[in-house]
Amino acid sequence: MKIEAIRTYLLEHRLDTAFESASMRFDRRQHLLVEVICDNGQSGWGECLGPARANRAVAETYANWLVGMDPLETEKIWVVLYNALRDQGQRGLTVTALSGIDVALWDIKGKHFGVPVSTLLGGRFRDSVRAYATGAFKRDGVDRVSDNAEEASRHKADGFEAMKIKIGFGVDEDLAVIRAVRKAMGDDMRLMIDGNHGYDTVEAIRLGRAAAEYDIDWFEEPVTPEHLSAYREIRAKQPIPVAGGETWHTRWGMREPVETRAVDILQPDLCGCGGFTEMRRIADLAALHNIRVVPHVWGTAVQIAASLQFIAAMVPNPVRVNPVEPILEFDRTDNPFRQAVVTKPIDHHNGVVTIPDAPGLGIEINRAALEEFAPREDT
Ligand SMILES: [Mg+2]
Repeated sequence: MKIEAIRTYLLEHRLDTAFESASMRFDRRQHLLVEVICDNGQSGWGECLGPARANRAVAETYANWLVGMDPLETEKIWVVLYNALRDQGQRGLTVTALSGIDVALWDIKGKHFGVPVSTLLGGRFRDSVRAYATGAFKRDGVDRVSDNAEEASRHKADGFEAMKIKIGFGVDEDLAVIRAVRKAMGDDMRLMIDGNHGYDTVEAIRLGRAAAEYDIDWFEEPVTPEHLSAYREIRAKQPIPVAGGETWHTRWGMREPVETRAVDILQPDLCGCGGFTEMRRIADLAALHNIRVVPHVWGTAVQIAASLQFIAAMVPNPVRVNPVEPILEFDRTDNPFRQAVVTKPIDHHNGVVTIPDAPGLGIEINRAALEEFAPREDT
């Protein structure tokens, strides 16, 4: 079996109501899927985290080396592609584009051997996982405090036992949101806060100290990801566990945050950090330092399915009767193609998601949806 071609699919939907995190404004949803096609007709699917058009350009550049290679040789391909662009890119788009290709290759490998990727990774420790609802952005034209509180009530009614909200807009307003959300969800739901690196160190420490009384599971990306000494200071000076990692790529990008304990919880993104091939190494690195891993997930059902396969194979830790179970990030914001791209949507029931056990990623792509959500004009 040889790789014959790589095809990319840009998906786009303009939102009726734009929303913002502390660092980004979304007036549309845009994601990039990658299909790696083999000479025997087999194909595999992946997704790249980040700006879709830029990822597309890099992924298509990788075709120069990819075509003609054996898709089962995932490690070899990873090394060839990484080396090809290493001199201009040890992190960022070169790695996010490589991630989508690597995920597609593992999909092919699973289909070839007739097993889910989780089996290839070493075995399924679980067939389902509890999900947490990600949402509570700042939406245009609505009061953020009441909007986020209402959203929390909705997720609770849907059966979610955990939710993450967006902060980083300003300490006092953020504290009002946290207070209102905690009140709306009650004491029995887990609450996480995500700063999307919107604070400076002083603000993050102040927010963390004041928010701790609302029982927060983790404080994600308090400051910009380059500032690892600030992460360490925030860990030391406020009581909420600090999380981060969605913008750190490869084992090299994760090494310093892990070895210097810049975070309590590491959040590598499978479709950004280097795919399954690299995510395994990152999980091992975190395990060596007893740092918890909670994968970051932001994309379509392709990324969700891939993350589920990885989560199925995560080694239980700590070793006890009831270990700390992994948790799946489950985006609840507006995105009509998130589940439309697969023939069987990946949904939750009472906040629990079943992990597919069909070969590869365990999904089938709905090609009609790829057509439907292709941008009409290349803008
Ligand atoms: Mg985040």
